[in-house]
Amino acid sequence: MKNNCVVTFSKNVFIPVTNVCRNACDYCVFRARSPDDAYLISMNDFLALVKAKGAATEALFTAGEKPELANLSSYFKKEILDAGYSSLVEYTKELCKLAIKHGLLPHCNLGVLSREELTGLRDLNASMGLMLETTAAELEAHRNSPGKIPAERLKMIEEAGKLEIPFTTGLLIGIGENPQDCIRSLQAIQSLHGKYGHIQEVIIQPFIPKPFTPMWNESPPSFAELREVVRAAREILPEEIAIQVPPNLTAPKVLIELGASDLGGISEKTIDYINPESPWPKEEDLRRMVAPNFELRERLPIYPRYIEKGWYSEELKPLIERYADEDGLRRKESKSGLAV
Ligand code: SF4
Repeated sequence: MKNNCVVTFSKNVFIPVTNVCRNACDYCVFRARSPDDAYLISMNDFLALVKAKGAATEALFTAGEKPELANLSSYFKKEILDAGYSSLVEYTKELCKLAIKHGLLPHCNLGVLSREELTGLRDLNASMGLMLETTAAELEAHRNSPGKIPAERLKMIEEAGKLEIPFTTGLLIGIGENPQDCIRSLQAIQSLHGKYGHIQEVIIQPFIPKPFTPMWNESPPSFAELREVVRAAREILPEEIAIQVPPNLTAPKVLIELGASDLGGISEKTIDYINPESPWPKEEDLRRMVAPNFELRERLPIYPRYIEKGWYSEELKPLIERYADEDGLRRKESKSGLAV
């Protein structure tokens, strides 16, 4: 089982299903602004990505939120109907099935979903995610983002708990919230985990200003601010919830000393579409970042605790058994590529 000297990470293929989004967050560079830069990933492009998966075990699906309600909804609806599907969720379910067939464990982060949508995706996902970002309501950065109402996001995280879905959430730091908001956000996550026991990790992610966005001239949070949030997270959240810090957005060493224990997913084949200016470090870089006091171990998108509890479906069982070792972490492979 994971001990206090282990820092984990995972290897994924990052799949941006669509960049059409109903929200318009002031810091976002991902969402499409016009039909000319909008897309729905084609089946062929998707298959090319999963077939080139290398050593990845996770298919990380991200998408704009509820594209059926976006300003560009007519573009999206035409694309999805032409592909032969009725909605983002229906299409993504098919992509999840294909990812599993190609040896990848899906993790969907598609924005706010209904209970019915979560139920439909549950058996096809090793875990799912939604950034809470903050419980601070009415932030300037979210004035054009109906999906960023904190209560809506907390409701979905709660539904995921009722459905026993291993879940990833997190805080976005530096978007106009204050330190007390961070404390309240962490307490809200802790409270839901107390009821349902489903939160596997909480990401502490710094806002990074992006060109051509309304927050281009805003400063990112200082390292001292990040440090304080990680410190508070370790105090408020139970030990079993990992604190994740993204190694392509911050220097993790000090944050690990303060209790962060996961570096999230890195990808050999795909960029970070949310932070395209920040390349993923390589596995050797991660190993250097945690040395000498911590050991780096690869994990799956489902944490060991939930493998032990059996919080996964029959569809995912063969892959989880193939990839997980007796600690519930990634089984080491021999040079021939066979699990040992
Ligand atoms: S940050 Fe996410 S929710 Fe906000 S506009 Fe971008 S894609 Fe949509």
